[in-house]
Amino acid sequence: MPEINQYLASEEPLFRDILIADDSIENLRLLSILLTAQGYTVHQATSGQMTLKAVETLAPDLILLDIMMPDINGYEICKKLKKNPQTYPIPIIFLSGLDNVLDKVKAFDVGGADYIIKPFEIEEVLVRVRNQLVFKAAQQEICQLNAQLETRVKERTQQLIAANKQLEQIAIYDSLTGLANRSKFMEQLEQSLSRAKIDSTYQFAVLFLDCDRFKIVNDSLGHLVGDELLKQVANQLQTIVQETDLLARLGGDEFGIILSAIPALDQAMEIAKQIITTVQEPFYCNSYEIIVSVSIGIVLGSPDYEQPEHILRDADTAMYRAKDLGRGQYQIFTPTMYKTVHDLLKIETDLHRAVKQKEFVVYYQPIVNLGTGKIVGFEALVRWLHPQQGLILPEEFLPVAEETGLICGIGILVIEQACYQLSQWQKQGFKPLKIYINLAAQQLNQANLVEEIDRILTETQLDPASIKLEITESSMIRNLQSTKLLIQELRERGIQLSIDDFGTGYSSLSQLQTFPVNTLKIDRCFLRNLDGQTDNLGLVPVILSIARVMNMDVVAEGIETIEQLSQLRELSCHFGQGFLFSEPLNGEDANQLILQNPQW
Ligand code: C2E
Ligand code: MG
Ligand code: MG
Repeated sequence: MPEINQYLASEEPLFRDILIADDSIENLRLLSILLTAQGYTVHQATSGQMTLKAVETLAPDLILLDIMMPDINGYEICKKLKKNPQTYPIPIIFLSGLDNVLDKVKAFDVGGADYIIKPFEIEEVLVRVRNQLVFKAAQQEICQLNAQLETRVKERTQQLIAANKQLEQIAIYDSLTGLANRSKFMEQLEQSLSRAKIDSTYQFAVLFLDCDRFKIVNDSLGHLVGDELLKQVANQLQTIVQETDLLARLGGDEFGIILSAIPALDQAMEIAKQIITTVQEPFYCNSYEIIVSVSIGIVLGSPDYEQPEHILRDADTAMYRAKDLGRGQYQIFTPTMYKTVHDLLKIETDLHRAVKQKEFVVYYQPIVNLGTGKIVGFEALVRWLHPQQGLILPEEFLPVAEETGLICGIGILVIEQACYQLSQWQKQGFKPLKIYINLAAQQLNQANLVEEIDRILTETQLDPASIKLEITESSMIRNLQSTKLLIQELRERGIQLSIDDFGTGYSSLSQLQTFPVNTLKIDRCFLRNLDGQTDNLGLVPVILSIARVMNMDVVAEGIETIEQLSQLRELSCHFGQGFLFSEPLNGEDANQLILQNPQW
């Protein structure tokens, strides 16, 4: 400690009050003169009693104590003073004529600080006195520093406790809405589950809420408005839940509620209904009037659940079901819902492998000239040759493939196989055949699509005009800008385009006009009513006249009956496709079909 050195070095000790106790008047006088001359304040005592009295009243900084005194000896006095906490710190230097080791040892034993033998040398007394006083000063400084340190530690501890509380707040509360956050929610859910496991009468439920189309609000009105909306929704929800329940923001536009101690499921349904009606009222955020709805999944807590995460997962599944069924409603979780999700997950894992191992085959369905009966081309339709489940139809796996983005990889495999097959046919002499290939919505935004098509065209040496890409009307509308760009690039190469499932996607005529498309494919739902009666033609004649005006040709999809065929012929629909002619076939069977066709 630097402070101690500082005192040792200083000339003037801090403490100056000295009591000299000695029954020899001679000694007293001598020492008094000596110490006073050095600037010390000196008090004197000539007996043990006097010494004790003087210490009590004067509280000296140091005592020079003679061992041999008539009433009480120095050792006894020292013992007494050292027993008393008040006088304990006063350093005592013994003065003695006894130059005996045992006496010195005893002096230190009873608490003496030092020992001077009479007759003393003046310099020795001064040095020893001074040393003790400096030491005392240093000790006091240490005490003070210690006390300061202690207060600082206390202050810091208080600050840390406060900071900790703040961290705790951050850790369990959502900063935007002030509601509990996901981790607090999970903690509480775990407690509810544990309680249900030991108390069979305890019943709880979990509600999983998701704001419908919140993304649209966020994207179109901005994040500030989105945040404001979430705050207001949170406030509304708060007015509905009881104090014993827990309302939390689980993230984004998702909220969770734990209803504790409810008598039955009815209660949870009641609250869900109340939430749905309350949230339906318009919200006013930054001068916008916003209408939102929520979809809610409900799960009844059960001790059979192993983990709280599983309860939340099921509530989430039920919420998605509610969204599927049209949003703004609630659904109660049932195990079949889990199975559906589980199956989809399995398909997803399997699909990843399938893309890697190219487990896809292309089937071909002929497109026929309705006037001549000749095959003009084939639509390429993908099938998944699953190692265990056999042939799987597109509707079973394409939705998952689209959701996961795997569709792009699958799409390229299809284009590759279909183009290779067509080049084989053309080499065999079936020159005029065209191939119709479906493009999924996501492929319209696939960065390397055109590049891949170029590569395949080079590899197969096909005339680009014998390829017709099918884009469904709905995906075209959803991706107007990217579709336009893509179509332009494809047109530059001479590749043809066709609108699939036409009539189901609400495109306007003006939009249609801006797309340089060669073909419209009438969705098969429009053919269902063609039963030979002229009253039931529905939209088919309208679509045919639109196509004629726009100089497009038309393929009618899903022709299954002779009646449909003859009516389409009467309406001068040029091309058709359907089970009446042939189901989709594998490459070899399609080859046979071509050979049997009157054209060749
Ligand atoms: P799509 O492009 O409209 O294809 C026509 C669908 O109608 C095919 O179903 C075909 O088998 C079926 N079909 C043809 N004629 C008849 C008929 O007379 N009656 C009935 N009931 N159905 C008929 P598929 O092969 O199951 O394909 C379903 C959909 O999957 C296709 O509809 C298409 O949107 C999509 N798809 C198929 N292959 C691909 C592909 O390689 N890529 C992409 N992106 N989508 C594909
Ligand atoms: Mg198609
Ligand atoms: Mg179609």
